[in-house]
Amino acid sequence: MTSLTAAHAADLVAALLFILSLAGLSQHRTSRAGVVYGIAGMALALVATVVVASRSISAGAVALILVAMALGAAIGLWRARRVEMTQMPELIAVLHSFVGLAAVLVGWNSYLEVERHGAAQTAVAADLLTIHHAEVFIGIFIGAVTFTGSIVAYLKLSAKIASRPLVLPGKNALNLGALGAFLALTVWFTASPGLGLMVAVTVLALLLGWHLVASIGGGDMPVVVSMLNSYSGWAAAAAGFLLDNDLLIVTGALVGSSGAYLSYIMCRAMNRSFLSVIAGGFGIEAPSGGDAEQGEHQEIRAREAAELLAAAKSVIITPGYGMAVAQAQHPVADLTRRLRERGVEVRFGVHPVAGRLPGHMNVLLAEAKVPYDIVLEMDEINEDFADTSVVLVIGANDTVNPAALDDPASPIAGMPVLKVWEADRVVVFKRSMASGYAGVQNPLFFRDNTAMLFGDARQSVEQILQALDTTDPALTAQH
Ligand code: NDP
Repeated sequence: MTSLTAAHAADLVAALLFILSLAGLSQHRTSRAGVVYGIAGMALALVATVVVASRSISAGAVALILVAMALGAAIGLWRARRVEMTQMPELIAVLHSFVGLAAVLVGWNSYLEVERHGAAQTAVAADLLTIHHAEVFIGIFIGAVTFTGSIVAYLKLSAKIASRPLVLPGKNALNLGALGAFLALTVWFTASPGLGLMVAVTVLALLLGWHLVASIGGGDMPVVVSMLNSYSGWAAAAAGFLLDNDLLIVTGALVGSSGAYLSYIMCRAMNRSFLSVIAGGFGIEAPSGGDAEQGEHQEIRAREAAELLAAAKSVIITPGYGMAVAQAQHPVADLTRRLRERGVEVRFGVHPVAGRLPGHMNVLLAEAKVPYDIVLEMDEINEDFADTSVVLVIGANDTVNPAALDDPASPIAGMPVLKVWEADRVVVFKRSMASGYAGVQNPLFFRDNTAMLFGDARQSVEQILQALDTTDPALTAQH
């Protein structure tokens, strides 16, 4: 077998490993295997690509590729070791921006190469030149939109800029106009390619990417993250066409389509129109209201919360982003175990967009070894709150906000939420009365059956654990 056929076989195996990886990552139990398949597929793909490249480039160039790979691997390992779980979404946004930038560079390089050598001396056959020009243009467009869109997502997720949507006058017309201009430029470029048009499409796409994501409000950011994931896949696929790399096309299509499907699922979970979100918040206006005076809130101390829990028959814990910030998952797992030992029924209700990453809470709870069978999705548990003695809202805010159901003027109106307020008592763990990611006030905090337990969630749960030691076991025995 020649090294080229071997490389093609390796591509095929790598593609299969990526498919197995996606399948594995779709469930908790198999997710580790999924990661291993992904790593194996990527290692194989890298080796195969370098082997194929080494046939047509000098030894010096191969050495350069190896140095670049070693540097990239070292930086990747260093970042992965240091990153906090709460910074994962921002890291992912930055990584998407790299894919976008790479696609732009591949597009420019491919154009300049054909320009410099003429089609005859490059891999591009003369009759395929028009298609090549279209590929260059589309690749640069998707790549540049992904690049700036991901940078804005990074800035919003890391709170370096406000998460509120940017509402420029005629923003929908701007987006549609940019799309129309791109189509017109593509037709022009395929007919008579030129450097000016390359610059024009790059600038247009960079601005569009920026505007699309800047126009999307806080509550819709989960969809944006998965949407950019999808865009980065299509950008990689476009680069694959230009580089004549089948594996990159397959991998890009896998990432592109799975990201698009995830965006669709998240839109359904948030009752948002998929098209409206991917079109940069099309039809969504600037948030209004939501900050009206809500009344008085009640406070509770850890000891009283412990007594409440000890006397409870059933408890549901709804974790949110604050649990990740406080790294409270381990004491929460201890509390769960202790309460279950006392005969209290304890379950978790996980909202699909809790935290800052799809599956964020599930990862944290799995890390703390909370049994899978008591961790339920919103739809599985939402009707059970009415029969629940105590709900512990640990660092969640937007995902338990009744305004989503009661207030049509709320920016999160229509988003399905965990109906925690239907329980007998609700204890909210947070540090202040500040709003959540969507920047909307939460009427839950002012309800008669809600009490605020102020402080860092980890410390509060640890205080409850200490207080439980001295809480009369007879309280639990009563039910
Ligand atoms: P929110 O982001 O709405 O609220 C988190 C709450 O945690 C805050 O109100 C904060 O209040 C509290 N908190 C922060 N740190 C601590 C701490 N150390 N101890 C105790 N409390 C703390 O959380 P949810 O999970 O309910 O909602 C997720 C939001 O993020 C949604 O709006 C979602 O759309 C958005 N989003 C989700 C993504 C995803 O993929 N899951 C991606 C991007 C955005 P205080 O400061 O007073 O302590």
